[in-house]
Amino acid sequence: MQETKSTCPYCGVGCGVVIQHDGRHITGVRGDPDHPANFGRLCTKGTNLHLTATPVVLQHQRLHVPLKRAARGEAPAAISWDQANREIADRLLAIRAQHGPEAIGVYISGQLLTEDYTAFNKLARAVIGTPHIDSNSRLCMSSAVVGYKQSLGADAPPCSYEDIELADCLLVSGANPAWAHPILFRRLEAARAAKPGHKLIVIDPRRTETAELADLHLQIRAGTDVALCHGLLNAVIQRGWAAGDFIAAHTEGFEAVQALVRDWSPARAAEVCGVAEADIWQAAEWFATSPRSLSLYCMGLNQSSAGTAKNTALINLHLATGQIGRPGAGPFSLTGQPNAMGGRESGGMATLLPGHRDPAKAEDWAEISTLWGAPDLPGQRGHTAVEMFEAAAHGEIKALWIVCTNPAQSMPDQAMVRAALERCELVVLQESFAHTATARYADYLLPAATWGEKEGTVTNSERRISRVRPAVPAPGEARADWRIARDIAALIDGGLGRAPRLAADSAEALWLEHREATRGRDLDITGLTWAVLEADGPQQWPYAQGATQGTPRLYTDGRFATNNGRARFIARPYLPTAEATDANRPFALTTGRLRDQWHGMSRSGAVPGLFAHEGRPLVRLHPADAGTLADGTLVRVRSARGALVLPLKRDPNLAPATADIAMHWGDEFVGAQQGVNAVTHGAACPDSRQPELKFAAVAITPAELP
Ligand code: SF4
Repeated sequence: MQETKSTCPYCGVGCGVVIQHDGRHITGVRGDPDHPANFGRLCTKGTNLHLTATPVVLQHQRLHVPLKRAARGEAPAAISWDQANREIADRLLAIRAQHGPEAIGVYISGQLLTEDYTAFNKLARAVIGTPHIDSNSRLCMSSAVVGYKQSLGADAPPCSYEDIELADCLLVSGANPAWAHPILFRRLEAARAAKPGHKLIVIDPRRTETAELADLHLQIRAGTDVALCHGLLNAVIQRGWAAGDFIAAHTEGFEAVQALVRDWSPARAAEVCGVAEADIWQAAEWFATSPRSLSLYCMGLNQSSAGTAKNTALINLHLATGQIGRPGAGPFSLTGQPNAMGGRESGGMATLLPGHRDPAKAEDWAEISTLWGAPDLPGQRGHTAVEMFEAAAHGEIKALWIVCTNPAQSMPDQAMVRAALERCELVVLQESFAHTATARYADYLLPAATWGEKEGTVTNSERRISRVRPAVPAPGEARADWRIARDIAALIDGGLGRAPRLAADSAEALWLEHREATRGRDLDITGLTWAVLEADGPQQWPYAQGATQGTPRLYTDGRFATNNGRARFIARPYLPTAEATDANRPFALTTGRLRDQWHGMSRSGAVPGLFAHEGRPLVRLHPADAGTLADGTLVRVRSARGALVLPLKRDPNLAPATADIAMHWGDEFVGAQQGVNAVTHGAACPDSRQPELKFAAVAITPAELP
């Protein structure tokens, strides 16, 4: 048996794994005891990773050869790589010639490695010439990106996982690490057990497993997070807990926020949020007066039409209390996907450029244009995820190249998304798994290598870059994602009569290109090589030339990444959700993860044991709302966009008037009903363009019998 060190492909904790294999088949997996994210531990998903690579899965669930559909609705047939690449390049060139490069969209994924991101970013912007490249990370962390940039000057989580152990007070807001980031939750549990007097505050409309552990659970009404933060800050100011010296020395804009929250007494916030006023006073006291307070936050804040406002309101609280830039203190956004951070760093998104450059700045475009040898780089931001599919639905985008993601399940407002896929002249899907909902719409299916077969790097939530290593060859003719991009890019460049602009011949070469784009930037990694990662293990950026170790914490000198070095208080009012509940649709539907499943289940759904935790889709409802309806009763969940029928589960852990459906279940589990995204909607935060997957107004009624 051989062992190869790599990184878990599921969540943003980024645990190190040791793959056990015989060079042809993966036979087992164990936690890497040397990896600083997990020190040898794995959660249930990680422990079962090898079962996603069994011969049965490889044979029946993986895509082995390129496939082409002669016509929509027909079964796809095998085609050679050469022919597929040639035909795709020709069709993209034809669409480009007839409608312009903006008629082509590239939709990628936080599952990709940083090297893949770099390749697709160049393919879209430098080779095709379209600004429309975005990632499914738009759905999970773009509000955190904009929140950090607005408040602290750079998209850089300033904390480390070890801060969980160092903090005296932990504020977990809109996150359930017990299920979504299980290894961090284990660290949190251990920290509490080891530290008498430790305080844990959880803000969540659901009484989650994380909330069960809390000293104080603020079970707010869904969508009222900004009101709560304003109330907490009001309490801090009223009681004199604000850190006046820190505010004066290191921040700007406090007066405007002070004026904004003057009207947000804890009593008013309590009324709006549906919690006890005394609990707001208590939470404010613990957060402000504990020696070290850390906040952990995730989708509950990000997936919202007020996502950026929620992020900046929480960061305001840190700035006002000086709980930042010290061990155990700071605002710590947790990423959902394994390499959402790598996508941010490499700028493979419509609103970002490589090296944390800003699409709004001409000098940033010029630098990337020079770096890439592409003088005709499109100089504007492109369509973000929902916008891209809306543009396709309207006929503005004619071709979509989708990589390692399943928008026909995961995007909000499925009716619109599926209409967009149907209307496109060309849909290319690059995937590892053969049977996703999106595959049905693809004209070409390109088989991609996946975990255990690929080489590159990922960055986890604490800015730590880890190596991803191949243990076995990819099945059939599956290829690395970056290579698929490069080969078609070469044909497009050839068709345009120019030298290849995406010519890298290895993952490491692409990583070196990415590394160069960080030179002199806040995330500078020009001192880091794969040899260093090999010798010293995973490292946190920045890691500039001359450095001998990574950087565990940012802003420790009180100087932030803004032009004048001062962090900014952001004064934003509390706004209600994009859609309001009313007499016709009285329930606030929220969506979220199950502990043992991942995204659309194309990988985790291959492991029977992972269904033991929850084996079927359900809609949860508070018993007071369910009335006399028993568990298992089929109910119809209906929004302004669509409907689905699911069994009911009475759940006293939900706040009244709240409904909850796990995000994972797609067509294969709920019939032709498109999963929960049949009813969610695409209203997005105006700053981050992240859609409001955490709130939709729905009616829930007993389903009519056929
Ligand atoms: Fe994988 Fe996340 Fe579990 Fe770690 S916590 S083993 S990264 S799923």
